[in-house]
Amino acid sequence: MLNVNNVQIVYDNVIEAVRDASLSVDEGQIVTLLGSNGAGKSTILKGISGVLYPEDGDIIGGTITLNGESLIGRKPDEIVRSGVVMVPEGRQLFEPLTVEENLMMGGITRSRSGATEALENVFDIFPRVKEKRSTIAGYLSGGEQQMVAIGRALMSSPRLLMLDEPSLGLAPQIIAEIFAAVSDLSKQNNVSVLLVEQNAELALSIASYAYIIENGRVVMDGPPDKLMDNE
Ligand code: ADP
Ligand code: ADP
Repeated sequence: MLNVNNVQIVYDNVIEAVRDASLSVDEGQIVTLLGSNGAGKSTILKGISGVLYPEDGDIIGGTITLNGESLIGRKPDEIVRSGVVMVPEGRQLFEPLTVEENLMMGGITRSRSGATEALENVFDIFPRVKEKRSTIAGYLSGGEQQMVAIGRALMSSPRLLMLDEPSLGLAPQIIAEIFAAVSDLSKQNNVSVLLVEQNAELALSIASYAYIIENGRVVMDGPPDKLMDNE
């Protein structure tokens, strides 16, 4: 479904953040990108979601396609409409607004009735978000904010959900809750997931395929059992 081939991304004409990345994500599959800090994982997600494109000096070489259609050069909102959303690191909610108001802002591709239905789907996936629907987002715990951030991304009914370090700074119990929800999403709603994680063990517990990124390159890939054997 998603194919990234020989992609190269350079910041400010000098920093080669991604040198040569090729990866694919199939329908309904959870794929994880692992590797040390600064390896280029976030940059790959940003390249796919189109948020690098308008910045001067960010060059993208190679191809990125979704079901055969190129995503390179498309605006971020067009990419969302085509079914690809990213939840950036750090969640980035509108903190003075309520949970429900934050969620409704993710429904950019929907009619009012479509948004109501999408909201109910998010509440099914994250019952805790439903409980807190009228709470000011800034008052929530980090884990709850992460659920809202993922929920907001789901409001556009994506086919591919990209998560950048969703477990960062969160307590183990709530991480387990979030990962279980993400796993259900791929199984029950056939949503594909591209997951960037520092915590490899956690990521490999839900992913069916992993790519190890180092210095902007894929250095190893395979299903979790194959990668564990190589460790
Ligand atoms: P090539 O482009 O040379 O086929 P790939 O890296 O795409 O190389 O694939 C290498 C092998 O890994 C193939 O057997 C392919 O089916 C498998 N593979 C690649 N990506 C995935 C993925 N996301 N899920 C499952 N298998 C994958
Ligand atoms: P990872 O997600 O694997 O930690 P990143 O994709 O965030 O890695 O970063 C890859 C490289 O690109 C690093 O050397 C980082 O310092 C650099 N980089 C990331 N964002 C920018 C930016 N906006 N401008 C310049 N360099 C950047």
